[in-house]
Amino acid sequence: MSIRNALLNTRRIASGPMRRLQVQRLAARGCAPLYCLFYHRVADTHPNDWTISCDRFAQHIDYMRSQFEMIGLDELQRRVRQKDSHRPAIAITFDDGYAENSRFALPLLMQHKIPCTYFVSTQHVLTGRPFGHDQAAGVPLPVNTVEELRAAAEGGVEIGLHTRTHVDLAGVDDADVLQREITDAVPELADLIGRRIRYFAFPYGLPQQITQAGVQAVYDAGLEGFCSAFGAYNLPGRDAYHIRRIHGDPDFSRLRNWLEFDSRKLKIEPELRYSLPAPPQPIAPK
Ligand SMILES: [Zn+2]
Repeated sequence: MSIRNALLNTRRIASGPMRRLQVQRLAARGCAPLYCLFYHRVADTHPNDWTISCDRFAQHIDYMRSQFEMIGLDELQRRVRQKDSHRPAIAITFDDGYAENSRFALPLLMQHKIPCTYFVSTQHVLTGRPFGHDQAAGVPLPVNTVEELRAAAEGGVEIGLHTRTHVDLAGVDDADVLQREITDAVPELADLIGRRIRYFAFPYGLPQQITQAGVQAVYDAGLEGFCSAFGAYNLPGRDAYHIRRIHGDPDFSRLRNWLEFDSRKLKIEPELRYSLPAPPQPIAPK
């Protein structure tokens, strides 16, 4: 363990009673934190920054199952909207769609009936073309096929959209790009999988990718929410359309630090600037 992680662990353990008290107080008001994790690839070959080993992933799942309720994105949103969160819970997501996930991670989640939302980019699914970031690293890792995604959906995994070509939408407000990457990709993915698509995850998921035009395109496509990936908590009372995610960090001490509710993270969370149309108001009877 690095010195930094040893310090983090010491601080986490020392602040444990205070953190538990904070969570208890939030839970008593129906405002317990709701965590949404994102993973990319679970495999024992070609380790990289976006891969976690099978053993380590299984350790994460064991820990989470023992400490938290495991829920889907729709239930997470419901609890945020209705301030009905009386116990911390976790939702699991994956981005990109790596073939190896169909060998270990997804079967493990299905076996334990753990809800999961799995975000893919339609062009990569259709062509089998590896991601640019893997090609750049010299390791063109295999991506999921349509058949693998259909099998996952059959097993209860929800498939979500991660754009058409895994484009970086930072600063993009070009209507043609948004049409191609989001608006048209939603029915394209729905046709491929044979199911309705409800959620979207912005590639890279940082504040600069999450623009007003991008969020508007997601909303106009009829989707029920979008995911960021810069590390933040879902607390009841906040905007539920935006699902804030935390990295499923292979470093267990960092992951636990997030999942034991580190309130200092709230102070350094970046602010997103977007607005959505108000939901239609019922017409008052005359
Ligand atoms: Zn991605």
